[in-house]
Amino acid sequence: MPATPQTRGVVLVVEDEPAIVDVLALNLKAAGYGVAVARDGAAALTLTRSIRPSALILDIGLPTIDGIEVCRRLRASGDWTPILFVTARDDEVDRVLGLELGADDYVTKPFSPREVVARLTGVLRRVRGVPSGTTLLRHGELAVDLTSHRVEVSGREVALTATEFALLAHLMRRPGVVFTREQLLSDVWGYATTAGARTVDVHVAQVRGKLGHASPIRTVRSVGYAAERPRGAADPHGGGGLAQDGS
Ligand code: CA
Repeated sequence: MPATPQTRGVVLVVEDEPAIVDVLALNLKAAGYGVAVARDGAAALTLTRSIRPSALILDIGLPTIDGIEVCRRLRASGDWTPILFVTARDDEVDRVLGLELGADDYVTKPFSPREVVARLTGVLRRVRGVPSGTTLLRHGELAVDLTSHRVEVSGREVALTATEFALLAHLMRRPGVVFTREQLLSDVWGYATTAGARTVDVHVAQVRGKLGHASPIRTVRSVGYAAERPRGAADPHGGGGLAQDGS
């Protein structure tokens, strides 16, 4: 199926079950996305490099190369195209979340096509939706550029997924403010999610793992998470006032 350019971008659907491809393609097109299809992992890698889709909807159980390996190879090659995983079993969810694969979100089969479209839109909003204004957030050795999405620790670039970046930036924009997991799911993931608090915990752990000692995220026990206020640094909002609704 050829890619059809649309204003919302082309989504590469990687799925070997024709009935699922059909229902996803129908719903994605209705939502204004262009759709390209790969029916196995090898084709997914080739197409991702040739058509440069806005995002992948990536089934895990695939012929030739499975979805997890497709994601691993893309990330290893420096390709951070947003990925929405489709999983069939709980143990696949564990593999997606447990490894630092750089998945942006996942849905579990059987899914409603509307949920898939909503999740995808959420992923793309997180990639594109950083407002202008403040462009550089700093915390000690950590620098987060909201315009370029570049994250550095002591000048060394750290690669974050779109979701990890959005979570970190969201917390750092309001230093000292404690967010519950539910607030973070709503603010960062941005949809009525079936994923639970565990999703937030896993992404926080991944950000911490990547940033190491430079991570500003602290756990507020039995409440949620907050970014520490920058030590001796200017207020990142530039207005001179600290957030008022924090801890
Ligand atoms: Ca499959």
